[in-house]
Amino acid sequence: MARAAIPGRLTWQPATVAATRAETATARTLVLAVDGWTGHVPGQHVDIRLTASDGYTTHRSYSISSAPGPDRLEVTVQVVTDGEVSPYLVGVAEPGDQFEIRGPLGGWFVRRPADPRPALLIGGGSGVAPLMSMVRAATNPTRLLYSARSPSDALFSADLATAEAAGDGRVAVTRVYTRAAPPGWSGPPRRLDADALAGVAWPREADAVAFVCGPTGFVETVADLLIDLGHDPMNIRTERFGPTGG
Ligand SMILES: Cc1cc2nc3c(=O)[nH]c(=O)nc-3n(C[C@H](O)[C@H](O)[C@H](O)COP(=O)(O)OP(=O)(O)OC[C@H]3O[C@@H](n4cnc5c(N)ncnc54)[C@H](O)[C@@H]3O)c2cc1C
Repeated sequence: MARAAIPGRLTWQPATVAATRAETATARTLVLAVDGWTGHVPGQHVDIRLTASDGYTTHRSYSISSAPGPDRLEVTVQVVTDGEVSPYLVGVAEPGDQFEIRGPLGGWFVRRPADPRPALLIGGGSGVAPLMSMVRAATNPTRLLYSARSPSDALFSADLATAEAAGDGRVAVTRVYTRAAPPGWSGPPRRLDADALAGVAWPREADAVAFVCGPTGFVETVADLLIDLGHDPMNIRTERFGPTGG
C-alpha cells in the first residue's frame, strides 16, 4: 500500500539563497531562507541537494553555523578544489538561487540549551562551523580552541572576537595556527598538541563536555589526547567532516 510522505526533517524542501558572506578567500557563508523552518539545536547539520538541468542530483552535508532561529539558517562552506558541490556553493550560488535541503539532522553532536555543563569546543579548519552555532547560542561557560592553517584561513574571526568581547566572560577563544602565525604571535606555527589542550581543558571536577569537529585525522588525534588528559570518553562528542557518506 502506498504511504503518503510525512513532512519533516527527512523531507527535501526548497531553500532560497537569501544572502552570501565571504569568510575567507576560499570559504563562504550562505544565508538560506526556508519556509516553515523552526530552528535547530547547535551542532546539527543539513543535507543540501543540487539538481542539474538534466535531472542529475547529488547531495552533501553541511553544519549549521548560525544560532537557532525560525525561517533562516546559515551554512559555511570551505571549498574542496576538485569537489562537485562545494565549488558551486562557495563560488557560484547567488541570492535568489534555489536548491533543496533536508534537516536539521543529528542528535548526538548537539549542545542543548538546557545542558548546564561547561563546554570545551575544539575545531579544525571548517570544523569550527557547528561550534560557531554553539558559541552563538552559548548560555553556559564555553571555551573554544580553534586550529586553522593561518589567520587568513581562519573562519568567523570577527564573530568570535565579538562573542569573546561580549563582556560576561562566558566565551573564551584560543587559537592555534598550523602553517603561518600572525606577526607578534608567541612561538612558531604548530599542530594542536597535548600542551595546547591542557591549557584550555576544564578541571576534571567541572564535568565538562567536549565537542570535537574537523577532518577525520584531526578529530581522532584530539579525542585521544583528551582521553590521555583524563577526559571522560562519555563526555567527548565528535563530528568528522569527511566526504558525505564516507
Ligand atoms: C556531518 C557533516 C557536516 C559537514 N559540514 C561541513 C561544513 O559545515 N562545511 C564544509 O565546508 N564542509 C562540511 N562537510 C563536508 C561536506 O559534506 C563535503 O564533503 C565537502 O564540501 C566536499 O564536497 P564536494 O562535493 O565539494 O567534494 P566531493 O566531490 O565529494 O569530493 C572531491 C574530492 O575531495 C575529497 N573530499 C571530499 N570531502 C572532503 C573534505 N571534507 N575534506 C577533504 N577532502 C574531501 C573527496 O574524497 C574527493 O577526492 C561536512 C560533512 C559531514 C559528513
